[in-house]
Amino acid sequence: MKYRHTAYRRKIWGVLVVSVVVFAFCVRPADAGESGHPAPDAIGFTFDDGPHPRWTPVVLDVLDAYGVKATFFVVGWRVDKYPEIAREIVERGHSIQIHGYSHNPFTEMSDARIEASILNAQAAIYRATGVLATCVRPPYGARSARVERVINEAGFAMVMWSFNSLDVNLQSSSGILRQTVRATPGRNILAHDTWGSIWQTALPKVLEEFQSRGYGFDTVCENYGPFLSTPKTHGPGISIT
Ligand SMILES: [Zn+2]
Repeated sequence: MKYRHTAYRRKIWGVLVVSVVVFAFCVRPADAGESGHPAPDAIGFTFDDGPHPRWTPVVLDVLDAYGVKATFFVVGWRVDKYPEIAREIVERGHSIQIHGYSHNPFTEMSDARIEASILNAQAAIYRATGVLATCVRPPYGARSARVERVINEAGFAMVMWSFNSLDVNLQSSSGILRQTVRATPGRNILAHDTWGSIWQTALPKVLEEFQSRGYGFDTVCENYGPFLSTPKTHGPGISIT
């Protein structure tokens, strides 16, 4: 009886120790370890999936009209196809970052293919703009511990979002207006410049509403969070000084 009791206690201790180790290494507070937050008193608008020849300039014009800087997570092949739009993003003072080369979900790719997708997109951005991007938002937001590890081991920060405008789901200007004005300072808002057709009328109203509340605006990849400043690179013409 005594032996069984001792064995039982050992088992309990074993479970406890394993739980603590698992918690320490695997469970983290939401967003811990990720960069990608605007300043606490600011909204961080992020636009994915561009550059789009028709709609990215529309979004850029609205942002300019309200003096707002945003972050654009661009798709590598689109940058290669529309380098002048990517340049426009940078010339107007916005942050340009990586959303994969092909927009295939990283969760369905091998480690090597994920890294290649990131580095190919980085090379496309660099060729078009001269900017060496350091942040990655996985296509579709499809993430896992493996995906995050591959991104981090390549020297990049993974950036998700903390508020979804639901533009892809709602597909209406009035819908995204109602949804987006619910965002509060410190939030990193997911939007898509490829849906510029609905942002064209909604974005001015959203920005006016936020400005009337006294909110600031901020990019999400600069100056905040644990930055990995020396990402891997490859591709012609890239050199880090
Ligand atoms: Zn996307």
